[in-house]
Amino acid sequence: MNDLDPTQLDVETLAIRTAQLRTDEMAHSDPIFLTSSFVYESAAQAAARFGGQEPGNIYSRFTNPTVRAFEQRLAALEGGEACVAFASGMAAISGTFFSLLSPGDHIVSSRSVFGTTNVVFDKYLAKFGIETSLVDLSDLKDWESAIRPETRILYLETPSNPLSEIGDIRALAKLAHDNGALLVVDNCFCTPALQKPLELGADIIIHSATKYLDGQGRCLGGAVVGPKAEMEEVLGFVRSAGACMSPFNAWVFLKGLETLSLRMEAQSARTQVLAEWLESQPGIVRVHYAGLKNHPQHALAGKQQSGYGAVMSIEVEDAAGNRDRQAAWRFIDATRLISITANLGDVKTTITHPASTTHGRVKEEEKQRAGVTENLIRLAIGLESVNDLKADLNRGLEALGSA
Ligand SMILES: *Cc1c(COP(=O)(O)O)cnc(C)c1O
Repeated sequence: MNDLDPTQLDVETLAIRTAQLRTDEMAHSDPIFLTSSFVYESAAQAAARFGGQEPGNIYSRFTNPTVRAFEQRLAALEGGEACVAFASGMAAISGTFFSLLSPGDHIVSSRSVFGTTNVVFDKYLAKFGIETSLVDLSDLKDWESAIRPETRILYLETPSNPLSEIGDIRALAKLAHDNGALLVVDNCFCTPALQKPLELGADIIIHSATKYLDGQGRCLGGAVVGPKAEMEEVLGFVRSAGACMSPFNAWVFLKGLETLSLRMEAQSARTQVLAEWLESQPGIVRVHYAGLKNHPQHALAGKQQSGYGAVMSIEVEDAAGNRDRQAAWRFIDATRLISITANLGDVKTTITHPASTTHGRVKEEEKQRAGVTENLIRLAIGLESVNDLKADLNRGLEALGSA
């Protein structure tokens, strides 16, 4: 298979068949190369490897066959030239900025990005003279007016967390390129099974492999996919900074990728059914999910995604009309099946209160702007049966009524 042209194969096939590792033992499942270093036939060969005259493995911070297989498979799925794996999604995000930017450069970023990314902007990049302007994900004019001559990167996640807002990747790619900048997209929520940002014009893709690439909540990991030249820079950084992916985790992600398309389809389908059902329930003020016809960017999501994903959020109200933290917490605490945890991308359905957890340290004003209200609850739907999930969410709805 490794000699077939990957551009001729579909995502489902690539996820299973591309970049398979095969040793002399001919194992059908990819082997794990759980080793920190590699040996040489002679001192001269060691010198040639270190000197770069002879290609080959030296040390797992530089290269590791299992990690490389994961990188090649994810690059094929995203349709990118190269991929660099990282120890976590945050390592991938910060590694991309630190390797591609210099003091004086400027980033324009969506306001609705993973919370810790804002800490990287404010606390660390700022320290090295790299400024960030925050804009509204779905407002093209806002992006346009934030661009400066020194803008190098436009950065976004789409759909956004937790409100499922959509960024127009094609339009933002054009805006970036017209201004000599790169468009960097965090594709964590859709994955290449549902969205291919590079095909829409984006330059670089970021992943938290921790989420859907693993799919069962086991390992932390991250990855960056993009053109060879930029990925060389990123690779140089990860080797020196040491934020490399563990070979064991890479193996878990390789296995996770094999079922990615099937999981994304099944989890999206369950989310659609539950979102439509929740919309008509008393106690639900609003459901935020791009798969719903009344979502302001439903048409755009349908155009650039092949599915709407498995994350939605709901705004709740108790029987007395309170739309507050107490109502949200009562709903969450009444569920029995669903896990109360901030992680997502698992086959286990999870529920969280963003205002007091993932967005707990965000300034009040920013929270308001991001729409993270006190009555907002985020659900990341897994693979349990729709009936059992409905029954569990019903416990939450009933708890609202007993106010
Ligand atoms: C979780 C997440 C990250 C961070 O990834 P880690 O693996 O936790 O470091 C980045 N972006 C998005 C969209 C995420 O959901």
